[in-house]
Amino acid sequence: MSDDELKSPTSGWDIHCHTRFSDGTESPATLVSQGKALGLHGVGIADHDTWNGWPEAEAAAKEQRFPLIRGTEITSSVDHTSVHVLGFLYDPANEGLAAMFRRTREAREDRVREMVERISRDYPQITWEAVQRQIGEGNQTTVGRPHIADALVAAGICSDREEAFSTVVSSRSKYYVPVPSPTPAEVTQTVKKAGGAVVVAHVGDRSRNKRLLPDERLEELIDAGLDGIEVYHRGNLPDQRERLLGIARRHHLVVTGGSDWHGKGKPNPLGENLTSDEMVRRLAEGCYLPILRP
Ligand SMILES: [Zn+2]
Ligand SMILES: [Zn+2]
Repeated sequence: MSDDELKSPTSGWDIHCHTRFSDGTESPATLVSQGKALGLHGVGIADHDTWNGWPEAEAAAKEQRFPLIRGTEITSSVDHTSVHVLGFLYDPANEGLAAMFRRTREAREDRVREMVERISRDYPQITWEAVQRQIGEGNQTTVGRPHIADALVAAGICSDREEAFSTVVSSRSKYYVPVPSPTPAEVTQTVKKAGGAVVVAHVGDRSRNKRLLPDERLEELIDAGLDGIEVYHRGNLPDQRERLLGIARRHHLVVTGGSDWHGKGKPNPLGENLTSDEMVRRLAEGCYLPILRP
C-alpha cells in the first residue's frame, strides 16, 4: 500500500462531527457554517447516542444550502474493549433503535452520577449541579465524561479536558465507572433494521483501548451487516490504517474519514480527515433517509 493511500482524501465530506447535543461545544448551525466556509462537500452530524441535534442541523443545512448527512455515534463494547459505531441515515422513528438509545443514555447518566459521587469525596466542588452547568442542551444532551472534565476545568482542578481525561476521569482512575453497553454486533443489527448504514469508528486507536478489536471481531461485524470502516481518523496510526484498509478492500466495504470534531472540546480541526464523494454515495445507497442536498 502506498503512503498516499494511508492519507485522507484532500477533498470531500467530514462525516464524524459532534455538537452541543453531546460533548461538542458548538451548535449544529455552527457545524454547517464552518463546513461551508472550509469548502467541504458536506458535513455529518454524529452526536453520541442521540439524533436530538438533527432538526437543528437540517434547518441550518436548508438555510445555508449546504449538504448534510444525519448520523449518530453509538456506544458499544465487547471483551472489555470500547467500540464506537457510526449509524447514518436510519429511520429515527424506529422503535428498536429508540429503545437502545434510551437504555444507553440512562446508563450513561447513571454512570456519570456515580463517578461524580466518587469524585466529590475528594473534590467537593464537583457536584451533579456543577456538571449539569456544563451540559449544552439540557435534557436533549447525551451526558458523558467530557462534561465532568469540563466541570473540573471550570473549578480550576484541571487545566483542560485532556488533562482531566488523563487524570481524574481517566478509565484508569479510581473514580472510573464503566458504562454498560450493547455489543457492536447488536448495534450493527439494530441500525440495519432501522434502515441505516453502519461504520465502525476509530477502531485502530490505541489511545482509547489497550487491546484493539481483532480481525475476527471485525469480521463478525461484517457478517452482522457492517457497511464501512472509518480509516481516516487521527487516532488510527499508519499501521492500523493499513490493516483496516486491507480488511475494507477484502470485504468491499466503504472507507470513511472524519475529524471527530468537538468544537473547542478537542483539538481536532473540522475537515482534518475526509470521506470521498464516491464513498459517501456508496454509504447512502439504500438507506432509509437520503443525504440532505438543499
Ligand atoms: Zn468515538
Ligand atoms: Zn466521535
